[in-house]
Amino acid sequence: MLKLRTVSLLGCRSELDALPKGKLLINTINAHSYNTAQRDTAFAEALLKGDALIPDGASIVLAFKFLRHKKIERIAGWDLFLHEMNKLNRKGGTCFFLGSNDDTLRKIKVKAVRLYPNIQVETYSPPYKAEFSEKDNQQMIEAVNRVNPDLLWVGMTAPKQEKWAYTHLKELNVNGIPYKVQFNPARIVSSGAKVDAKSIQERKCFLCPANLPPVQKGIPFGGHYHILVNPFPIFPRHLTIPELAHTPQRIASRFTDMLELAEALTDYTIFYNGPKCGASAPDHAHFQAGNKGFMPIEKDWRGQTAGKIADYRKAALWYLDDAPRATLVIESTSKEDAADLFDIIYRSLDVKPEEDEPMMNVLVLYEADRWVVFVFPREKHRPACYTAEGEANLLSSPASVDLGGVFITPVEKDFLKITAEDVAQILSEVCLSATDFHKVRQRIREKI
Ligand SMILES: [Zn+2]
Repeated sequence: MLKLRTVSLLGCRSELDALPKGKLLINTINAHSYNTAQRDTAFAEALLKGDALIPDGASIVLAFKFLRHKKIERIAGWDLFLHEMNKLNRKGGTCFFLGSNDDTLRKIKVKAVRLYPNIQVETYSPPYKAEFSEKDNQQMIEAVNRVNPDLLWVGMTAPKQEKWAYTHLKELNVNGIPYKVQFNPARIVSSGAKVDAKSIQERKCFLCPANLPPVQKGIPFGGHYHILVNPFPIFPRHLTIPELAHTPQRIASRFTDMLELAEALTDYTIFYNGPKCGASAPDHAHFQAGNKGFMPIEKDWRGQTAGKIADYRKAALWYLDDAPRATLVIESTSKEDAADLFDIIYRSLDVKPEEDEPMMNVLVLYEADRWVVFVFPREKHRPACYTAEGEANLLSSPASVDLGGVFITPVEKDFLKITAEDVAQILSEVCLSATDFHKVRQRIREKI
């Protein structure tokens, strides 16, 4: 229950600066929304469980004075807007306006672009109706997730906007490691993909040049790859980079290509999903690429290092303290040394019966004249919840992006129900156990 006697509000504008970093849900409250919250428990919950509540009304300020003998300052929604926009403009980033009609959004965009030159502005106009359908919600979430903005302004009138933002906000903390959850219905084609030999044999390969739709044009790379736009994006910019020839998905002979792709596509992080680690085309070799900075691990890994396994010429090999995920990180200013270290890792991992290579996902990015390579050795293709019946079912087929910290849920009910415990459980099944990971590190040390 939302009570003026107990509710915690921001007391003055300067407290806006003191809010913690990271993803925050900030709401405003005035007399009207306070009264509405007395009758609408979902609205009250959305206001109370946000990260900050701002008194945007003279009567709230007055009520605090009489009821709690506390002097607080009115902070208008407009103050919050200016504060956050100025802050983002100083560092640069993306802001998203969700709500209103196309004409208003156009005017907002024109003005915002002029006032805040360092902010990229994106918008989406939801349908004008009392209740959104599931499809409406899907489209809004997809529009926002595709941009992955630093700031999201939701303007759909109270209490609708607060409830909507609260219901669709998802960031989970798994033993101190942040995982975003993305609701992405289009990814059902990959997460739900049948990758058994028979199903693969019976379908037309969608990565072979002969089967690409005529509108899908690629850019050649390295003489035997072409760079395509991914038709089912997770990232705002998402590429698929298949080999020209129809040949199985394997990493050993292609890892150097991956390093070269990262060096050429400096705005992107390149990733590889093993044939049984999330690749939906295990029969046709390919990499993917998504714009840099989208996956939490790219920025966070340094703060998560558990130790250095070894130095190796111009490279270093680290491992992270991020169980139940198991992560090795190569950092190298030399392509050859990075490739040698990867080869040592590859030879230190077990190969499952009936497999040709150790199960793994790999991310590579290149910045400040060095490669950073994340290797996630895998134990299993899909978690038990993937095939579980009824309530226990959760359609999660983890691949590089999930292990990089963005969990993809193609089904809305899964998006709504997934918890940090679910993510931990999934990771503990598909990643190496602590004991096996320890063994792998021992073998690597012996080989270096
Ligand atoms: Zn093919």
